[in-house]
Amino acid sequence: MKPRVYPSELRSYHYCPRLLFFELHFGRRRGLLERLNLFLRSLYHLVLQALARARGFRTEEPIELDMGSYVLKGRPDEYLVEDGKVLVVEIKTTRAPREGAWLGDYLQGAAYAMILMHKAGAKEAWVEVRYLDRSARVQVREEHLQLVKFAAEEVLAVKEGIVPFANRSERRCARCPFREECLDLGDEPGEMGEWVTRDRSIF
Ligand code: SF4
Repeated sequence: MKPRVYPSELRSYHYCPRLLFFELHFGRRRGLLERLNLFLRSLYHLVLQALARARGFRTEEPIELDMGSYVLKGRPDEYLVEDGKVLVVEIKTTRAPREGAWLGDYLQGAAYAMILMHKAGAKEAWVEVRYLDRSARVQVREEHLQLVKFAAEEVLAVKEGIVPFANRSERRCARCPFREECLDLGDEPGEMGEWVTRDRSIF
């Protein structure tokens, strides 16, 4: 069976490639508070998805695309395919960046858009990321699809055991359940995934 890459993993990879490595190889470590948050988030999603279905959107449907060496597979929160155009909506219970959308959130949506464009033969697509404070809609361009493929290849390499870049920040690392293991591993110059520090948002 071909390996799977999930669009949500592209988002996690962009947040911190090293953290995705730990989660994939050591399992996710969730405290009580995080589990409670997850439960509340899923209730929030259920309400929004019921509203979306009433507006004609499809929600949480499994979609996939054979990419040759792997299968890209996931469930977009909401999507619409109409007149050869695709709209993917990603719902996030976080705050938006100052402008546009966080690049990791957008990459997740663009991966879904790539699958849907291929299936529907659509030439145009948009990703809308809905944050708690506002929404951002970005048109999917060819270079975005190339970035999705590039990031997916790196996620595959992480699954195979390559230790990627540690995207250190005081805020991110303070609440990371793997910070001790991560410090033990240390940092090497030019580790795979260093590009995630270049652009944090897109608009
Ligand atoms: S400690 Fe920081 S850099 Fe290391 S995996 Fe966790 S979030 Fe990433």
